[in-house]
Amino acid sequence: MAGLRPWEELPIGGAVEPDPALRPRTGGWRTGLRPQVDLDGCVNCLLCWVYCPDSAIRVVDGAFAGFDLDLCKGCEICAAVCPAETIAMVADDG
Ligand code: SF4
Ligand code: SF4
Repeated sequence: MAGLRPWEELPIGGAVEPDPALRPRTGGWRTGLRPQVDLDGCVNCLLCWVYCPDSAIRVVDGAFAGFDLDLCKGCEICAAVCPAETIAMVADDG
């Protein structure tokens, strides 16, 4: 194609810092429900951590450690996949 410059001659474009995309505060638009766990029933399978689309499951030393509500958008997936049925979705009182 005549007239097109090789990529080496193109002007350098702008750069977008990746951080906001890596840690979006999805908890800011939660559905109105939030997960609540009964830790006595947790078998530490971490399926909730695998399936949570927003990295809102906290894991400390390889063990389930609750939810990060700054990231949780209330999608209910963790409650649906928990084999111990120990996660319940409750009204989000803020
Ligand atoms: S409801 Fe559960 S799966 Fe959905 S974002 Fe919150 S912690 Fe993650
Ligand atoms: S899916 Fe349920 S049993 Fe498994 S780690 Fe999460 S809360 Fe615990």
